[in-house]
Amino acid sequence: MKERLLLRNFRLLNRRLADIAIEDGRIAEVTEAGKGTGTRVIEGSGSYLSSGWIDLHVHAFPEFDPYGDEIDEIGAKQGVATIVDAGSCGADRIGELVESGRRAKTNLLAFLNVSRIGLSRIDELSKLEWIDGEAAIQAAKRFPDFVVGLKARISRSVVGGNGVEPLRMARALSEAADLPLMVHIGSGPPSIEEIVPLLAKKDIITHYLNGKENNLFDAEGKPLQVLLDALRRGIRLDVGHGTASFSFRAAEAAKRHGIGLHTISSDIYRGNRLNGPVYSLANVMTKFLYLGYPLEEVIAAVTSNAADWLQRPELGRIRVGDVAHLTLFSVRNEPVVLTDSEDEVRMASERIEPKGVVVNGEYMECEDRA
Ligand code: ZN
Ligand code: ZN
Repeated sequence: MKERLLLRNFRLLNRRLADIAIEDGRIAEVTEAGKGTGTRVIEGSGSYLSSGWIDLHVHAFPEFDPYGDEIDEIGAKQGVATIVDAGSCGADRIGELVESGRRAKTNLLAFLNVSRIGLSRIDELSKLEWIDGEAAIQAAKRFPDFVVGLKARISRSVVGGNGVEPLRMARALSEAADLPLMVHIGSGPPSIEEIVPLLAKKDIITHYLNGKENNLFDAEGKPLQVLLDALRRGIRLDVGHGTASFSFRAAEAAKRHGIGLHTISSDIYRGNRLNGPVYSLANVMTKFLYLGYPLEEVIAAVTSNAADWLQRPELGRIRVGDVAHLTLFSVRNEPVVLTDSEDEVRMASERIEPKGVVVNGEYMECEDRA
């Protein structure tokens, strides 16, 4: 008999209970709970199910230190169906990242670092000759289904004395390659006022809630004019929590001023996975639940919002006929201590916990980290 996996009695985000059947890797049927059929059953007992989570900012090239990790450790094992490597590799090594993605269970996509050397060192834009436009365009063309955009880290320790020149070059390259740009922000120079006006529609600012001196909010927590202008131009904001780039104070200021939540991402790699403050995408999502965002908005920030930006809407929905990418999770009512990148601590009363994941139709249980 043909295998037909049945996910039975799961709560969808519209709060309805449903059964979902998967056959040949695709969603075969979505029915009212109790009506589905299958040869192998996973019982949900009313816990949640969403389309497969997407983490738009991770570091999945294990060889690079400090910013590297194993694909499935930060993907499927944590309930994340699709991870997007945020510029670990430039043109020199991107082919190896593509190869290791093919061996992993988790879906892997990537931003190509505009510096051909990528994160083989952490000042990858300190020499302008490392921005090799021709090599980048060729690499993007070689892997069109894999490279979703370009990445440029525009902060002092990365660009050295080059100011915004690497960003100008990256923006020109983005035009030439017809790919949007993800820009990392951090300590200046260059100043945030010089950086943000150079960004264009569909570009993404990652680390937008960082608590550094050069961030997007003034001393009172009011959003800077350059941020408001950028939002009007269609620039997207990505969390990119990371070791040093998420501040509760900035996040609370953003919420107070109605700065929208677009994509929640972790900027996870081995160090901040094992020692915090990131641990997992679910832990970052729990912080936004704590901040008062409804569960639907938190889940949209790791599903439909990311899928829409990627122009892969099928990754962000549950529809019969699509390849099955799903995340099974629960929201547990229990006290949890949350720490940001500034060592500020908050006590929350509920946390999001992934239970299992379906990637390309294959079901895997998550590792219990509780
Ligand atoms: Zn960064
Ligand atoms: Zn990063």
